[in-house]
Amino acid sequence: MKAERFDILILGSGAGGKLLAWHMARSGRPTAVVERRWIGGSCPNVNCMPSKNEIHSAKVASQARRGAEYGVRTGAIEIDMAAVRDRKRNMVDDQIAAHVKNYQASGAELIMGSGRFVAPKTLEVRRNDGGTRVLAGDRVFINVGTHAAIPGVPGLEAAAPLTNIEALELDYLPRHLIVLGGGYVGLEFAQAYRRFGSRVTVIERGPRLMSHEDPDVSAALERILDLIAQVPPRELAGLASDLEARVARSAGADRGRRIALIGLRGAGKSTLGRMLAQHLGWPFVELDRRVEDEYGASIPDLIEMAGSATFRRQERRALEHVIAEHEAAVITTAGGIVANPETYALLLRRTHTIWIKARPQEHMSRVMAQGDFRPMAQNRQAMADLVAILEARRADYARAEVEIDTSGDSPQQSFAKLLRAVERLTGEGQP
Ligand SMILES: Cc1cc2nc3c(=O)[nH]c(=O)nc-3n(C[C@H](O)[C@H](O)[C@H](O)COP(=O)(O)OP(=O)(O)OC[C@H]3O[C@@H](n4cnc5c(N)ncnc54)[C@H](O)[C@@H]3O)c2cc1C
Repeated sequence: MKAERFDILILGSGAGGKLLAWHMARSGRPTAVVERRWIGGSCPNVNCMPSKNEIHSAKVASQARRGAEYGVRTGAIEIDMAAVRDRKRNMVDDQIAAHVKNYQASGAELIMGSGRFVAPKTLEVRRNDGGTRVLAGDRVFINVGTHAAIPGVPGLEAAAPLTNIEALELDYLPRHLIVLGGGYVGLEFAQAYRRFGSRVTVIERGPRLMSHEDPDVSAALERILDLIAQVPPRELAGLASDLEARVARSAGADRGRRIALIGLRGAGKSTLGRMLAQHLGWPFVELDRRVEDEYGASIPDLIEMAGSATFRRQERRALEHVIAEHEAAVITTAGGIVANPETYALLLRRTHTIWIKARPQEHMSRVMAQGDFRPMAQNRQAMADLVAILEARRADYARAEVEIDTSGDSPQQSFAKLLRAVERLTGEGQP
C-alpha cells in the first residue's frame, strides 16, 4: 500500500503531541495524529483532570460534613458515587468535544486507530472503525505515554485490582480500599476515598512515601500523617479549621495592599482597576502588558513564537516582579491566569484577589462595545463557548477572597461595590 505523506506525523495524542499538531497544522504544515483511544491523551480522559474532578467531589463531601462549623446546618450526608462519576464523565465529554474542535479548527487530521512502525518514519494504522492506512511523515513524533502497571504480587492480577481507570469509574463506595503505592496518585486517591467515607490503607514497599519527591518532602508528609493519626477523628475537623485560620492570617500579612482583579474579559476589570488605582493613588498594573514589556513582543506573537508554556512562565515571572516591586498596587490579570495553577496560587497568596464577574451576555456585549467584534464575527458558537469557559473556570475564580457581580450595574455602581470590598480587605478605600 502506498503511504500517504504528511509533513508532521504524530503517534499518540498526549499533552505534547496534540499541541504540536495544532501548532504545526495552523502554520500550514500537513499534519496527522494517530490515537487509539484517548482523544487528548490520558490527562483529560483518565488521569489528571478526572482524578481532580472526583477529588473535588470528595472535598465537597468533607466540607459538607463540616458545614455546621461555618454556620451551615445540613442533614445527614450521603455519598452518591454514581453521581460523582457522572459529573466526572460530563467533564471528560466536554474535554473531548473541546479537543475535537481544536483538531477541526487547526486542520490537523486525527486518525482513530492503533499505529505501529512498518518502515522508517512510516506507520501502519489499524483504524478503530475498520480498515488500514499507511502514513509517512517528513518528521515523526512519538507521544505514546505510559499506563498503570500491575506489580507482580502473587494473586494480585487474578484479584482484578482497580487501576486509576477503573477507580475513576466506580459507582459505589468500597468499604475498604487498599492503595498499593504511596506516590502522589495513590495518596490523592487515598485522601479522596477517605473523605467519601471508605476505610483506606496505603501500602508502600519502599522506605518512604512519595519516593519521587525530595527526601525532606517525604519526611514532612510522613510526619504530618503520623501526627494526624494520633488525633481522634472527631477532633480532626476542628484542627483543620484552626490551621486554615492561621494560614489565612499569615497570608493576610503577605498580601500587603495589593489588589488583583480576576475574571473573564468584559466583566469590567480594566475599567474598575483603573478607577480604583486612581482613587487610591496606587500604581495600576495590567499583568499582560507587563508580560509584553518584559518579553518584548505582543502576547499572540509570544505564544506563536515560543508556545504557551513560555507564556505561562513569563506570566509567572512578571507577577513575581510586580509583587516584589509594589507593596500597594491594583493589578489586573488575563482571565486564563487560573489555568496556570502555580501562578494562580502565587496570586492568591500574595494579593487580595477579587473576582469581577458578570452574566455571559454582558461579557459579550461589553467586549463588543469596546469595538471588538471578533468574538461574534468569527464564531457563531461564541456565546456557548463563553458559557463553557465560565463554567470550567468557575471553581477556580471562586477561590478569590471576594466576588463582585457587575451584571446590570453602571461602572459607578460596580466601583462602589469594589471600594467597599477593598476597604474590608485592606482597611483602605472609602474617601
Ligand atoms: C490518576 C492520575 C492523576 C494524575 N494527575 C496529574 C496531575 O494532576 N498533574 C500532572 O501534571 N500529571 C498528572 N498525572 C500524570 C499525567 O497524566 C501524565 O504524566 C501525562 O498525562 C502523560 O502524558 P503523555 O503525553 O506523555 O502521554 P498520554 O497522555 O498517555 O498520551 C499518550 C497517548 O498515546 C496513545 N497511544 C499509545 N500507543 C499508541 C499506538 N500504538 N497507537 C495509537 N495511539 C497510541 C494513548 O492512547 C494515549 O492517548 C496523573 C496520572 C495519573 C495516573
